[in-house]
Amino acid sequence: MGYVTRIVIIGGGPGGYEAALVAAQLGAEVTVVDSDGLGGSAVLTDCVPSKTLIATAEVMTTFDSSYEELGITVDRDGTDEDRKVIGVDLGKVNRRVKRLAIAQSHDITQSVTRAGVTVLRGRGRLGAGGQAVDGSREVLVDGPDGNVQSLRADAVLIATGAHPRELPDAQPDGERILTWTQVYDLEELPRELIVVGSGVTGAEFAGAYQALGSKVTLVSSRDRVLPGEDPDAAEVLEDVFRRRGMNVMSRSRAESAKRIGDRVEVTLSDGKVIEGTHCLMAVGSIPNTAEMGLEEAGVKLNDWGQIQVDRVSRTSAPGVYAAGDCTGVFMLASVAAMQGRIAMYHALGDAVQPLNLKTVASNVFTDPEIATVGYTAADVECGKMDAVVVKLPLRGNPRAKMQGIRDGFVKLFCRPGTGIVVGGVVVAPRASELIHPIALAVDANLTVEQVASAFTVYPSVSGSTAEAARQLHVRKRAAGES
Ligand SMILES: Cc1cc2nc3c(=O)[nH]c(=O)nc-3n(C[C@H](O)[C@H](O)[C@H](O)COP(=O)(O)OP(=O)(O)OC[C@H]3O[C@@H](n4cnc5c(N)ncnc54)[C@H](O)[C@@H]3O)c2cc1C
Repeated sequence: MGYVTRIVIIGGGPGGYEAALVAAQLGAEVTVVDSDGLGGSAVLTDCVPSKTLIATAEVMTTFDSSYEELGITVDRDGTDEDRKVIGVDLGKVNRRVKRLAIAQSHDITQSVTRAGVTVLRGRGRLGAGGQAVDGSREVLVDGPDGNVQSLRADAVLIATGAHPRELPDAQPDGERILTWTQVYDLEELPRELIVVGSGVTGAEFAGAYQALGSKVTLVSSRDRVLPGEDPDAAEVLEDVFRRRGMNVMSRSRAESAKRIGDRVEVTLSDGKVIEGTHCLMAVGSIPNTAEMGLEEAGVKLNDWGQIQVDRVSRTSAPGVYAAGDCTGVFMLASVAAMQGRIAMYHALGDAVQPLNLKTVASNVFTDPEIATVGYTAADVECGKMDAVVVKLPLRGNPRAKMQGIRDGFVKLFCRPGTGIVVGGVVVAPRASELIHPIALAVDANLTVEQVASAFTVYPSVSGSTAEAARQLHVRKRAAGES
């Protein structure tokens, strides 16, 4: 029998379990060590639960924001027995959220074990003082029963993810002051919710709870919400939030959150105090890299404790790879999975394409959604990419008009000479689905002429993507001539 490579993966989120599937397919002997359940935070507490909650919010907003224009009548006072007041049973929504998360974790466990992977419950860390012995490394597993198991691995993948950052003076109590992992235990909708943090997570929850019926205050330390996103997109979203009655507090830094009986007081750095019934802290995350013997093994971490990796997921220690949120490369489940797969292709000597972040499609699940791929407005502004831009508001799109959609746009970036599409932004309901043709164009180096020549359905929102490509065809010629 030939030599079989032993792979040990610490962490069973998308970075870990996708890597396990690839490594097993390539014939390795694979063990995944996970402390909380396969699927990781992505499936159990973060991505899947939040998007399931948002599915309910989305139905509510779509209905709420368009029923009048579309001619639907609603009995808001509850006096007409045939019609119902719009409201939400949060306990029921949250039970559905948890059910779906656990079912998905179960499905992943089944497919991973069916592929021949061994799954161990426990906390993994590098052993033997972190040093490689005879070209292999030791992984120690602290089991739930207190036993410690030692495994030998030819290659180790660290995919331990991250956890919510907490402010020292705003400690979550799981009832009124909450992290995003704790909100699914709520039985009743928060009447007045203060969301601290206006990044993607803060904006998604603020929008969702507002749609479900909470009175929401969004505390943002920056000039506008979503500081990392396309500025035009962030402006649309902030405008929509305010129009729907959200109190968006810009340039306001929360210093502390205190529970006083059934209420919460959040104190801002200028001394102002805001009150609500609940507070959700969404102030970033901390990588799960402490007490794992990483530095002893020669694995370099940056100042934030994130593992430094190259584009094939290698760390600074031979035979040790890392993937996902613990590397801080791009905090997305899809990127974690890709990093994990790449690590295994590299470790097992298969053909490997280094990670290319310029083709990553990402989405903010607010209403409207904001989907982005490739180079951004900031890249063009700072001269990192020379590109011509066209932005088409959805107001002019026939399908959008029929559906009562007023907010949003399609934006495309292309190179001035060749017309190659290098990026795009879609702000629209279901932008996460509409971005795919632009992502394909960016990935395959398609030109605006190629994008414009493909048929789109009439009427469709994606018609605006083709129209933007047509306009860019003219615009880039003009840019080339000037
Ligand atoms: C609220 C929210 C919503 C999000 N929504 C999206 C989205 O819509 N789309 C998207 O692409 N991304 C989304 N993300 C990001 C996404 O969840 C992460 O990028 C993804 O979870 C990263 O996967 P991972 O494998 O690195 O880590 P994780 O999913 O965090 O999994 C790591 C696993 O390792 C375990 N672990 C940790 N330490 C150890 C140890 N020492 N030993 C054994 N096991 C250990 C953890 O318990 C966990 O099970 C969201 C994030 C948040 C916070």
